[in-house]
Amino acid sequence: MPSAAVTSVLVIDDNEELTENIAEILDDLGVEVGLARDADEAIQAFERQAWSLVVTDVRMPGRDGLELLEILKRRSPGTPVLVMTGYADRDTLRRAHESGALAVVHKPIDLDAFLELVERVAVAEAPVLIVDDDASLCSNLADVLSEERGVLPHPAANLDFARRLAEAIDFRAALIDLRLPDGDGLLLARELLHRPDGSRRPVIIMTGYPEGLRERSGEDNGDNDGDMVVLTKPFAVPNLLERLRELV
Ligand SMILES: [Mg+2]
Repeated sequence: MPSAAVTSVLVIDDNEELTENIAEILDDLGVEVGLARDADEAIQAFERQAWSLVVTDVRMPGRDGLELLEILKRRSPGTPVLVMTGYADRDTLRRAHESGALAVVHKPIDLDAFLELVERVAVAEAPVLIVDDDASLCSNLADVLSEERGVLPHPAANLDFARRLAEAIDFRAALIDLRLPDGDGLLLARELLHRPDGSRRPVIIMTGYPEGLRERSGEDNGDNDGDMVVLTKPFAVPNLLERLRELV
């Protein structure tokens, strides 16, 4: 499992026994590991070098892991961050999603599942953007997509974060909810479809109201030329995967 893509992992937890455990395992796999006991140490480590993956606890003295997640994502939106917590209530899941976490891992950590996640990140060559403010839908889609070999889903809960991600990462494709809390998913879809350098990225639009979308799509904006697919919510996941495979 040692990989080319995940060369360095930064692990943050106030439980040093846990971080040392994780460090030992990753170290055996040839992965460079950085350890931090709190958010401040993590920020220092983040300033020192780039990390291919960050794994953070939520409850820590000082700033908590979700505040840390927000800070790291402002500095480097494209760096995948896993959040681990023993208290994965709705609010934590929502905040983690809104701040751009790749996934939330439950404590006590299932090390096999954890390593599988690290491996997924490692072998992923095709980053796919998923934009939906529905945290549970988004994390379900991310789970399903990451089962596709080579695909690394990057969830975003709003337009603003999705745009910053799209600046940092050259996405292979995007799944975009039409109605986002801070704006119109179709705008983002068009930005990805018609990039300044002339390259194009296929987009799947997810909407409960495909009729409204059809009315808005003019003939001259290129929405209907095959790179944009519309999926009506609720949709069957196999159907989504099939459309995605056709596009990428
Ligand atoms: Mg803790």
